Amino acid sequence: MIKRWTLFLLAVVMAVVPSVAWAYHDGPEKEKSLFNSEHYDFVKYSEVEGMLKELQRKSNRVSVEESGLSAGGHPMYVVTISEAGAKAKFGQYQQLRRQMFNRSVTAQQLTGKDSDFKVPVLINGSIHGTEFVGTDAVLRLMDRFATQNDTETKTILENHVLIFNVVANPDGRWSATRFNSAGIDLNRDFITSSQPETRQMVELITRWNPMVLLDLHGYVRSGGASKPGLIEPCTPPHNPNYEYDLFSKWAMDQAEAMEAELVSNRDAYESDLYRNMKGTYIPQRDDSDGWDDYPPIFTPMYAMYHGSFAYTLEAPTNDWDGVRWQEDAVMGALKFAADNKDEMIRDQLEVFRRGIQFDHPYHQDEFFPKAYILPVDRDQPTPTLKAVNHLLDNDISVEQAKTPFEAKGKQYPAGTYIVKMNQAKAGLANTMLWDGEDITDITPSMYDISAWSLPELWGFEADPTDEEVTVTSTPVKKTKATGQLSGKGPYHIPNQTVEAVHLVNSLIQQGITVKRDQAGDFYVESHSSTLQQAVRDSGLTIRSGNIPQGAQPVKNLNVAILKDGGMNKGQSHAGTRIALERLGFQVTELHPQEVAKKGLTSYDVFVYSGTSQLISSNLSEANKEFGLKDESQVQTFKKHVTQFVEKGGKYIAVGSSASQATRTLGLTKVEVHAGGSNSNGIVKVDYRDSPLTAGYKEKDLGFVYRPAWYTSTDHATVAAAYHDSTDFFHSGHWKNREAAQGEAVIVQEKDADVTLIGMEPGFRGHTDYLYRLLSNVVFD
Ligand SMILES: [Zn+2]
Repeated sequence: MIKRWTLFLLAVVMAVVPSVAWAYHDGPEKEKSLFNSEHYDFVKYSEVEGMLKELQRKSNRVSVEESGLSAGGHPMYVVTISEAGAKAKFGQYQQLRRQMFNRSVTAQQLTGKDSDFKVPVLINGSIHGTEFVGTDAVLRLMDRFATQNDTETKTILENHVLIFNVVANPDGRWSATRFNSAGIDLNRDFITSSQPETRQMVELITRWNPMVLLDLHGYVRSGGASKPGLIEPCTPPHNPNYEYDLFSKWAMDQAEAMEAELVSNRDAYESDLYRNMKGTYIPQRDDSDGWDDYPPIFTPMYAMYHGSFAYTLEAPTNDWDGVRWQEDAVMGALKFAADNKDEMIRDQLEVFRRGIQFDHPYHQDEFFPKAYILPVDRDQPTPTLKAVNHLLDNDISVEQAKTPFEAKGKQYPAGTYIVKMNQAKAGLANTMLWDGEDITDITPSMYDISAWSLPELWGFEADPTDEEVTVTSTPVKKTKATGQLSGKGPYHIPNQTVEAVHLVNSLIQQGITVKRDQAGDFYVESHSSTLQQAVRDSGLTIRSGNIPQGAQPVKNLNVAILKDGGMNKGQSHAGTRIALERLGFQVTELHPQEVAKKGLTSYDVFVYSGTSQLISSNLSEANKEFGLKDESQVQTFKKHVTQFVEKGGKYIAVGSSASQATRTLGLTKVEVHAGGSNSNGIVKVDYRDSPLTAGYKEKDLGFVYRPAWYTSTDHATVAAAYHDSTDFFHSGHWKNREAAQGEAVIVQEKDADVTLIGMEPGFRGHTDYLYRLLSNVVFD
């Protein structure tokens, strides 16, 4: 994955053919973000490459690598800095770090007096594009460690290899936005890895298994004037899959070492905010809730499952003082790591030992199952195979049974996948594969999501078992399904996976007729090589089946989605757009002003999945660029959308805020109710007999984020409702949810093609299993 610098230069010279990765790239490089309250002359992304070349030229301690491209096609840079002689041993270090998992390495080899092993520390710069100080601090720290010879610098280099992910979000820095150019908040994408930037970071973490990871952000001043900034560890709830006692042994001390370094250097700062600081805000020390480390979606929380002592550092301000604050905090962390590395490494090894030996002294006996068993559907293996590859990418061992076997009274065929839980990264495996829990009553509120179960939300089976699985099995390497046609046709494509719908779209876009029956399944009569190739690519086995009476041809539809470019630092439409694209639809993003100016006459489907503020003109300075200009634009927007629906256009609202907006637009009479903005989780849903719910079980699951439900539904058809029982909430955090029990969650107007979905079927590239709720509406 990582190429050497020289290869990269060659690649740039040769890259005359534009790559599709540039698809989202837009506009000139920005100078500032209006979401920041201070502005300074930060180093632009376009200047970074030159600076790295210069750094490499002047120091033999530096290695620069290009680790791949961002979603928008910008190169990403990884710089390692170590003592001049250590460079030749990186491979050896990485090898030793990997051997930590099979116990063939001892703490002595990693830390002993005779060992010249350097402990890796990873520093991540500005994963949020508007938080410019992170990368600037990284650039200054790299310059120091490349060129200086003071005692502090030399001591740290004697003990550590420093790995810098220089610009963790190139698209965001380029466009002065929090997101990458696909509209995804990368610091919510760990565990999903939907984006290339995240996948590269996961690769870096699994390659080095850093002992310490520092993630540089801004801007927090919630600790009051005397404690600007923020340094983790976090408040509860802590995720139960961690070996949290081992993290806790060091976290507060290391945070306070960073704080002490800041305070001891305060005279060197420009502004009084910093010159008068008495410390910084450490959530775990200074608060009881509100800044938790529960979900594994953030960089440090994800890295903790790799045994890292990992922290988010939030600088107070967007200026050179903020840059200096990051530098000082990092120096405090590095000095602490150098002083304590022997004991800290022992505790990182202990995380892995507990995993390998299935010995979790702070967990209840059956908290971790002995194994997860992942059976593969013969015809539709794709969700399981995606999960297996994902687990492997995350350094989790997966095996495959060579013969049939029985576990917990259930028979499994040969070829079944098994994730044994006696492995180094058992905590990560479990946090990905477990069902989660309802944590509503243990904390007043959550910072972000509180449920993410991969089996439930990606749609594959993972059976936990407390029994030893005794079948001969072999370790799995990356796997891929090749699809095939079986029988003479016509063929039946069951509406069961994202890949099935993608196949349908790819066929109709190539001019092949596909029909859809009342139950929502698809049929094709062709025997062409186009069909054969598309089926091969899909990974599915498609069998002969009779086309039912009344099956209708599926139309190739033009889908438009209202673009939320980052209002209130959110881009809620991006997840829905990614879902539609993964389903194979060709989707056009429309700025609200484009809808107001040009209308929707060239589209068949209009999707609203974002804040209701997109149709308001009363906006803050920072939000203005994403919304409508004035009241007259609001009126033309309304007129265009209303006319679109009157002429038979299909309108889909996703989520509570879009549902509210639909009422404002006068397109529905149902009453829209919404849960709290940080209520989210996995819910039990009753899917009624309707084409909108095709491919789902009568009792099945859904995912909500700021949940919506609907009443006064006389003019609408209810296609799905929250399960009518007090336990309808399956996992996550949702206070005061009683009113939603048994209420409608998918409704369709009877007199107009308007559908409201109160869940988030396309959430942040994560909810594959629910994507087909969107295609069902589009095809209906
Ligand atoms: Zn941030």
